[in-house]
Amino acid sequence: MIDVRKRTGEDWELNIERDEAEAFGLSFEQIVPRQCANECIFCFCKGNPETARPSLFVRDEDVRLSFLYGNYTTLTSITEDEMRRVIEQRLTPQYVSVHATDLDVRAYLLGVDRERADISSKMQRMLDAGIEIHAQVVLCPEINDREVLRRTIYDLAEMHPQVRSMAIVPLGLTRYLNDERLTAVTPEFCRRTIREVDVIQKDLRARLGTTFAFLGDEIYLRAGGTVPGRAHYGDYPQIEDGVGMVRTFENKFGALLRKLGRRPPLDFQELSGTIMTGTLFAAPLKRMVANLNEKFGTRLHVLAIENDYFGGDVSVAGLLTGGDFLAAREKVRGEFAIIPRVALKSDEPVMLDGMRLEELQQQFGVPVYAFDFTQFATALESGVEPQQAMGEAA
Ligand code: SF4
Repeated sequence: MIDVRKRTGEDWELNIERDEAEAFGLSFEQIVPRQCANECIFCFCKGNPETARPSLFVRDEDVRLSFLYGNYTTLTSITEDEMRRVIEQRLTPQYVSVHATDLDVRAYLLGVDRERADISSKMQRMLDAGIEIHAQVVLCPEINDREVLRRTIYDLAEMHPQVRSMAIVPLGLTRYLNDERLTAVTPEFCRRTIREVDVIQKDLRARLGTTFAFLGDEIYLRAGGTVPGRAHYGDYPQIEDGVGMVRTFENKFGALLRKLGRRPPLDFQELSGTIMTGTLFAAPLKRMVANLNEKFGTRLHVLAIENDYFGGDVSVAGLLTGGDFLAAREKVRGEFAIIPRVALKSDEPVMLDGMRLEELQQQFGVPVYAFDFTQFATALESGVEPQQAMGEAA
């Protein structure tokens, strides 16, 4: 039964009868995202090569997508209708890019005037209506770091628990995004930021019972260190923003090793191949895979792939392209290669440069599998011939 209110104001009650698996005969319109009206100096859309997929140029700023998928919005141009919709339909939580609570800094970063940059009353209205907010800061050295960041964290922490958490992720420069107002994130900058934020996190944990302000994994890895332990992340409120992903991966990897250790010995000696990943994740992955090799006799190699498509300091696995994998093909050792599943579109086996997985596979001398962790674990756990297991898990 569906209640329908027509544009005329007329109410209909529809009974739909259908057999199992039969279509409803009714579908909802695709959401056409609202576009942002900002000119952020670090906008990722400016960092794309011209040939990138059109979807990478979509500057969405849509409270519906924020609720549905965790997309961040800046709230600078939210309309009264949208605000009412969030409140009436309880579209909670919302994900808000705050960047800085200092209005001059926020206005500068977003390329808008101070008045538009000020979203304090909009946020307060949401919070008063019981809408929870997860906040984000894109951390730009020399602009919203140090004292500005400290102030931003404490201002937002004042609104906890309604503001549930805050992610601090580093600015990403590509060879196309090279605005001279931006300063690159360096390992030294990351180390200093970790030191400064660590003090605040300790204070907040003592007062609020939560770390509240989480640094993105990238900051720890680029500092050359390891990510914090599990307790630091609580219920991983910012996992979709790359906060705590490495910790969950390492925990799952450890659990996999323990599980494999409890099974009858498998013929892992035959399992020889190369796992390709971004330069950022290569170091922790090498440690984990070395452990696997040592315990079970596998001969797996981790290959750090440079991102030539975006250039700059782009180092995450999810932004690697077909061309990047191809450029490293001569370095592949063993009988197969694994690329990260996250480098493919979620609904289609195609990479950011438009290359399809089949094309890549045809150009490699060995089978290429696009795996996420679960598929990799399934292949190892299946107990069948390792090479066959890889094929079956793909
Ligand atoms: S709000 Fe997002 S899409 Fe819009 S300009 Fe800023 S970074 Fe770009």
